[in-house]
Amino acid sequence: MIKEEKKKEYETIIIGGGISGLSCAKKLNEAGKDFLLISKNFGGRMCTPKKINYGACYVTGDYKHILNYVDKKEKLKLKDTFFLHNNHFLKFLTLKNLKYIFKIIKGFFILKNFRKHVLKLIEQLPYKSVKEGIEEDSLLFNYFKMPAKEFIRKHGFEELSELYFSPLATCTTFIDINKLSTYYYLSCFFPMIVNSYISDFKNTSKKLLKNLEDKAKIGLVIKVKKIKNGKYKIKTNIGDFYAKNIVFAALEKELKGVYNLPKPKIQQPIYVFYVNGKRKKRYMNKRAIIFNPKESSVYLIMNELGYETVYSKNLNPDFDKYYEKNYKIKRFYWNVAMPFSNNLIDQKLEENVYLASDYNIPGLEYSFLSGLYAANQIINLG
Ligand SMILES: Cc1cc2nc3c(=O)[nH]c(=O)nc-3n(C[C@H](O)[C@H](O)[C@H](O)COP(=O)(O)OP(=O)(O)OC[C@H]3O[C@@H](n4cnc5c(N)ncnc54)[C@H](O)[C@@H]3O)c2cc1C
Repeated sequence: MIKEEKKKEYETIIIGGGISGLSCAKKLNEAGKDFLLISKNFGGRMCTPKKINYGACYVTGDYKHILNYVDKKEKLKLKDTFFLHNNHFLKFLTLKNLKYIFKIIKGFFILKNFRKHVLKLIEQLPYKSVKEGIEEDSLLFNYFKMPAKEFIRKHGFEELSELYFSPLATCTTFIDINKLSTYYYLSCFFPMIVNSYISDFKNTSKKLLKNLEDKAKIGLVIKVKKIKNGKYKIKTNIGDFYAKNIVFAALEKELKGVYNLPKPKIQQPIYVFYVNGKRKKRYMNKRAIIFNPKESSVYLIMNELGYETVYSKNLNPDFDKYYEKNYKIKRFYWNVAMPFSNNLIDQKLEENVYLASDYNIPGLEYSFLSGLYAANQIINLG
């Protein structure tokens, strides 16, 4: 039987207990605010049942706000990564690629400069919305608006992109690079210049929920409606609640019918498989294989922390091609992996209604910061 809550009215109700809702709750708790976090589950797209990452899998050393809450396990190494192109395995770090050396150096400096701007943005984001922060930085704003394809053409990166960069960007974002902006495209390459780690998020929710367990409830939010006195009524499967402030910390597609939220242009689904089996000889001894998205429905096969994960746009990829007989698979489906927008979305939706989550830029750090920003707005209002 579903237990009804006794307290019905809160200053703030946070909807969604992924990293953005959790960071918002933690901050409000530290400020002594009255709030309730309601979520279908805690962790959201940080999903690590039995130590297997079905959702987010890596963090970079630049994820300053969340590094304390994740268990870093294994360093990502480009030298262990193979790119499958026209049925040939390629490696990025080989002498053969010396012919691209000037392009690679140029790319490195572009990436380094982009990172400098991103780090400055990240410092501001607890107090500034992603939209404001990006709009105030002309380089970041140009990259947000410029299609990745145009950037690749402008800098003559076509060949490198075809062989390495685009497959890498696609297996990071799960979308066709023709739909990506330069901002997203370049963000995928940070692990090339910043130490990055496959991580375990099993304890992340627990750590963030510490000291506020009684203010976080499992429940499904069905409808949010403005009522008299400027308050909001929140209809859920654990009863109706009332609040002055609302923070939406979940994706538009997940909250359809709950409230009229801005819709990101792309909300791309993805299948993630955990495979228990032995790879065929040809695919063995290769930690990560990144497939060319034009040639395969599988984006990536990776052995992370001793288990095999396969990311695919299809429900039934051809596992027989990659694994010896008798493999076993477990499938995980994400209705939306990461949203992508052409326009920067406001985080203040109306008086006392805030938007967290990765509507503007996907990733754990940006999501965490979006929750922190919403909390700081509420705290500053008093
Ligand atoms: C396969 C995959 C791989 C990824 N890899 C990485 C990576 O390596 N590194 C990285 O930085 N990022 C990665 N990401 C992106 C990252 O996971 C997200 O950007 C981030 O987790 C978003 O957190 P969030 O709290 O904003 O949203 P979510 O994690 O989606 O949390 C939303 C929460 O709201 C709940 N909810 C939804 N609807 C309702 C409702 N009606 N009522 C109550 N609760 C509701 C959900 O159950 C969920 O708990 C990946 C994502 C996926 C799917």
